[in-house]
Amino acid sequence: MQRKKLIAANWKMYKTPEETRGFFTLFLPLVSHHHRDEIVVCPPYVDLATALESARESNVAIGAQNVHWEKEGAFTGEISSIMLLAVGCTHVIIGHSERRQYCGETDDTVNLRLKAVLETSLTPIVCVGEVLEEREAGLTEDVLRRQCTRAFYKISAKKAGKLVIAYEPVWAIGTGRTATPSIAAEAHSLIRAEAAKNFGQEMADHLRILYGGSVKPENAKALMSEEEIDGALVGGASLDPNSLAAIVKY
Ligand code: PEP
Repeated sequence: MQRKKLIAANWKMYKTPEETRGFFTLFLPLVSHHHRDEIVVCPPYVDLATALESARESNVAIGAQNVHWEKEGAFTGEISSIMLLAVGCTHVIIGHSERRQYCGETDDTVNLRLKAVLETSLTPIVCVGEVLEEREAGLTEDVLRRQCTRAFYKISAKKAGKLVIAYEPVWAIGTGRTATPSIAAEAHSLIRAEAAKNFGQEMADHLRILYGGSVKPENAKALMSEEEIDGALVGGASLDPNSLAAIVKY
């Protein structure tokens, strides 16, 4: 099954609007002829307007790093899908492990966010992955099954069509440790099987599953060559335009 790969940059809490403009000035010419893969950059909220303006009419889409499940309301500090769409975002990351670890994100709030996003035209990128202790205790499969089942709860196959999953083993995020292509491919197969259980084989065959965790120009080719790996969610290495362009063009 041919699935168009998606390379998504997660800038986390880095860059001001001015730095964002500088990034796009250098990055866009490096990838302007690249149509093999989809490219998405997810900056902090305060940089979205600058990123959207800088990337207008380019082949780079802009996404956010989180979204609330309500359309509007008394939720200080939160941003809704409708707001993201209104400014021109097309993608949004949901359930990143840093949000699970530091901001009280749970499997249930991931499900609420995902359900809300799937009511809109935004493409959700839902992150799943085990921590080191879970891998060492042989619990990786259980954790991935639980995270998928809970994220997919009460979502129909029809609604789930745009879903993208990012498998991000937490022990590989920002640590310089990367899952081997075969470790990643094994986890991706399991996630695809879970998607098939919930949404049917056809949806699962089309589902894009990205790998995330210390992806760099040096390891991108080996990872992206795995049939099961449909792209990358890139953190640290996406902050430098040359490094992100090299990953895009692996
Ligand atoms: C991430 O933030 O999703 C990530 C994978 O980070 P890094 O590439 O720095 O490991």
